[in-house]
Amino acid sequence: MPTTPPNCQYCGTALTNTLVDLGLSPLSNSYVPLDRAQTPDNTYPLHARVCGSCFLVQVDDVVPADEIFNQDYAYFSSFSQSWLDHCQAFANASSARFGLGDSSLVVEIASNDGYLLQYFMEKGIKVLGVEPSASVATVAQSKGVDTRVEFFTDAFAKQLRSEGLAPDLICSANVLAHVPDIGDFVAGVASLLSDNGVYTVEFPHLLNLINLVQFDTIYHEHYTYLSLVAVERIFRDNGLRVFDVEEIPTHGGSLRVYACLDDASHVETDGVAAVRAKEAAAKLDTLEGYQGFETHVEALRDGLLAYLKEAKASGRKVAGYGAAAKGNTLLNYSVVGPDLISYVVDKNPAKQDTLLPGSRIPVHAVDKLYEDRPDDIIILPWNIRDEVIAQLDDLRRQGTRFVTAVPHIEIFE
Ligand SMILES: [Zn+2]
Repeated sequence: MPTTPPNCQYCGTALTNTLVDLGLSPLSNSYVPLDRAQTPDNTYPLHARVCGSCFLVQVDDVVPADEIFNQDYAYFSSFSQSWLDHCQAFANASSARFGLGDSSLVVEIASNDGYLLQYFMEKGIKVLGVEPSASVATVAQSKGVDTRVEFFTDAFAKQLRSEGLAPDLICSANVLAHVPDIGDFVAGVASLLSDNGVYTVEFPHLLNLINLVQFDTIYHEHYTYLSLVAVERIFRDNGLRVFDVEEIPTHGGSLRVYACLDDASHVETDGVAAVRAKEAAAKLDTLEGYQGFETHVEALRDGLLAYLKEAKASGRKVAGYGAAAKGNTLLNYSVVGPDLISYVVDKNPAKQDTLLPGSRIPVHAVDKLYEDRPDDIIILPWNIRDEVIAQLDDLRRQGTRFVTAVPHIEIFE
């Protein structure tokens, strides 16, 4: 039955162009407690589309917001050492570049457990975190990181400004995709920023999602998938000017964008033109750049199933590492269950002794790998592959193989 397409969450244009339709899927972070094992998952369409007007890629907004935000599980940024190292390096570099000192203020939006702001505090710089999840904000406060438990909106930004706050640096990493109203969020950044202040935002680069078939980063909690072309349009509309862009390796290839108010003094670097040119070469400023993606996704799924079925037929036991949201999109779209991957391990105690949503694969502590000695370990968060292989090097030396599925099956012995 034909249905009317939804409208772009930013500019309101009808979304008539599909990037990929992943069918019905449960929420990626809705881990199932064992006492609810008999209760079926709520599932929702997972359909990514591109706006033909502003080129914002977005998933259909079909999940009630309170279902997304009321999930039991809390994400703690401090669980990955490579991520902490990345944050410390950023705090050092940005403090030096923008001359931040003890009279400066750094605000982080979605400051989580204080994983980033702690490094600015160590330098004597004043900090304020804004974090909507009370459970992780409490951890930040216990570390001495001043944190407000709020969603960041333009109204809240104006309230902070009226309290006399005017940050020299506002940072946000991997939050822009999670906000349901990107226009209001960006307006809030412009309302809060000091006259010559800097806003830095990191997000997985849509160019890599498309080129490297990272379709597993698509899930309901991720409302948007960002290119520089879409971000510059939204920033420009809200009085912000992009003056630098860095390509960084996190999350399979991200952009770190630096922006300021239109009449601030920051000079545009060559990095901006370089990324604009890459996106133009990939035709991300036309609908042509978004066609054909679904075919690549189907090929990836077929490759994963062929590998898992061959492993099962030859008696090799496959376990998973990392109960990540992206793993759930991959497993549910590919219809992989415990018959093909016996269990998944995760370092986060909040996820242990649960079942993955949809696939219902059990989640155990990492120790299980040492008791069980699987033949192959498929690393679901492929972006931390090297860290995981190094951490489990003793298993590798005893013959366990490591596998990643994106952009295609790769086996590391
Ligand atoms: Zn649009």
